[in-house]
Amino acid sequence: MRDSRFDILFEPVQIGPHTTRNRFYQVPHCTGMGYRHPNAEAAHRGIKAEGGWGVVCTQETEIHSTSDLSPANEGRLWSDADIPALRLMTDAVHEHGSLAAIQLVHGGSHSPNLYSRQPAIAPSHTTVDWGGPIQARGMDLTDIKNLRNWYVEAAKRAKIAGFDIIYAYAGHDMTILQHFLSARHNHRTDHYGGSFENRLRLFREVVSDLKDSVGDTCAIAIRFAVEELLGSDGIEHKNEGHDVIEALAEEPDLWDVNLSDWTNDSQTSRFAKEGFQEPYTAFVKSVTTKPVVGVGRYTSPDTMVRLINSGHLDLIGAARPSIADPHLPRKIEQGRINDIRECIGCNICTAGDNTNVPMRCTQNPTVGEEWRRGWHPERLRPLSSKQHLIIGGGPAGLESARTLTNRGADVTLAEARKTLGGRVTLESSLPGLNEWARVRDYRIGQLAEKPNAQLYTQSPIAAGDVLSFGIPNVVLATGANWRTDGVGRTHKHPLSYLLAPNVFSPDTLMQTGPDKLPNGTIAFFDDDTFYLGSVLAEQVAHTGRRVLFITPNPIVAPYSDNTLEQDRIQRRLIDLGVKIISLHKLAGLSKHTITAACIYSNVETVYECQALVPVTMRLPNDRLWLELQARKSDWQDAGINSVTRIGDCHTPDLIAAAVQAGYQYGAEFGEPVTTPKREVFAGGTVQS
Ligand code: ADP
Ligand code: SF4
Repeated sequence: MRDSRFDILFEPVQIGPHTTRNRFYQVPHCTGMGYRHPNAEAAHRGIKAEGGWGVVCTQETEIHSTSDLSPANEGRLWSDADIPALRLMTDAVHEHGSLAAIQLVHGGSHSPNLYSRQPAIAPSHTTVDWGGPIQARGMDLTDIKNLRNWYVEAAKRAKIAGFDIIYAYAGHDMTILQHFLSARHNHRTDHYGGSFENRLRLFREVVSDLKDSVGDTCAIAIRFAVEELLGSDGIEHKNEGHDVIEALAEEPDLWDVNLSDWTNDSQTSRFAKEGFQEPYTAFVKSVTTKPVVGVGRYTSPDTMVRLINSGHLDLIGAARPSIADPHLPRKIEQGRINDIRECIGCNICTAGDNTNVPMRCTQNPTVGEEWRRGWHPERLRPLSSKQHLIIGGGPAGLESARTLTNRGADVTLAEARKTLGGRVTLESSLPGLNEWARVRDYRIGQLAEKPNAQLYTQSPIAAGDVLSFGIPNVVLATGANWRTDGVGRTHKHPLSYLLAPNVFSPDTLMQTGPDKLPNGTIAFFDDDTFYLGSVLAEQVAHTGRRVLFITPNPIVAPYSDNTLEQDRIQRRLIDLGVKIISLHKLAGLSKHTITAACIYSNVETVYECQALVPVTMRLPNDRLWLELQARKSDWQDAGINSVTRIGDCHTPDLIAAAVQAGYQYGAEFGEPVTTPKREVFAGGTVQS
């Protein structure tokens, strides 16, 4: 039974000709599944509808071949041949009584048209913002007429595909409608440029065209970024962001408002907390009577109620919270608040889309595998009572324990340290990463209610213990350790000069904290490309020590471009006074100096330095595995049927991969081995 405090979240809301059954609104978000994996996309969205999201949107969907985002894998609606793929998604959403929405996009100068080979178009002659040295042509009045027509044709196809809500999208600095609005992008001198009303003209016309063509049966929504965080160079919520909403206030059936660009809209928890968009979007409801949806990585039902009661929003928008927990609304409805799997704001999901593959999620290992492997975030097949011993209480061990106990197995989990959580416990104590502890806390919370789960801390397990326990199925989730010999992407042989007392591993630093480091200058050698080197450097810089950040890469943490954080990370290190030495590798270390060499010229530079922290790669902690392999002949007598390595002790990888390994072991143990399905999608015909 739900708590009556949350009743307001389950009120219906009218959106143009449709009514959504509640206030939970999954806003458009990319999945990396797109037009190349339509069955996967449909299954993913269908599970959201099943989980209670009243409105479920697709991702941005290209309306024409001049808006070709290849090799990115978004939605596509260039012709009638694209309709059947999208029909899969609307059917999956309607099956559960939710409304299906589509976000039509023309990317303009954000579309390099690498596949379609069409010239790119934009309000004014400009450069295309990715994909190579490509330019976009400033549009003439015929181009504008054509563009309006493409929107109408795409909207008609969307209607045939079964969508209830059709978006005009002007956000993320990735759409032609936003670029026409923006004085930064629109340098025209005709009646589509110059004054505010002229720059607004195309947007107004497209919204009106959509209403005229499909507005009888479809609601028309606007997604508009009220703030670009660029000061007077961009749209500001106190100036033109406000003016656009005021000018078009009653035109659409719904306003979906947010920040631009995508790195501002989907900030990670390292840089922004729940509700971070509120100061910018709070005004919107005061200038329109139409329903307003907004986002802010909301996972708390109390916060959601506050947003509705305070008149800030009518609908609670969510992308990431709906990925981490597709059944979040249903859990609130059923009074199962403690079962909510809260997003941790790590943006591993955006990395999937940014690398053009189906996204994965740190918290929800079933994402992207709903159709391919038939995984469901809430449903598991029962398992007749099989006993398991799990060694290691990090994300892999905890997730395997959660899934196995949910299936009915008896689980004993032993963890050597005082606290559960493994690397998540260590990393969540670093600056800005405290929300990552949700990976541990959600799983401990779930296991706490299970009579068939026994969790032991301070219990280091050796091979002899495993044999004497005689528990038939043994899972090794013993993790991995950072190397200190420099080997990684750049150095392929151990560096003998790193066998020195002033070399500290990231594990030691996380376990003991920065106070154990010597005073003076601490060097980091970051060859890992992701977050850890930068966040450790940040922690040390906060202690007042001088920090050198040596990296063979041109920028700090280049992989974090995919999690939309790279510029914020680099800026933070600069703000903290960290000296960044890019395009350099290691060449020597003494008690008081470090030598770095240019990766191109090998020219060496010596810096004063008291200690080094190499962040290069990890090695599996597989000692127990090797010991048990050596005693395999004893297994049968000890009653052991299987020993399986999962997570980092098998292959060091992302936390998301460890969670997935735990889920896969737990969900598929005892099941027949099957090959995942593969999509074959050609010319608008979907085959499974
Ligand atoms: P993963 O990401 O694969 O879950 P982690 O490194 O996060 O790996 O967690 C591994 C956990 O296993 C750590 O908490 C570590 O203390 C624990 N562990 C390692 N070896 C043993 C052992 N022999 N007995 C009990 N716990 C162990
Ligand atoms: Fe949230 Fe991270 Fe999952 Fe994305 S990957 S939905 S940010 S937990």
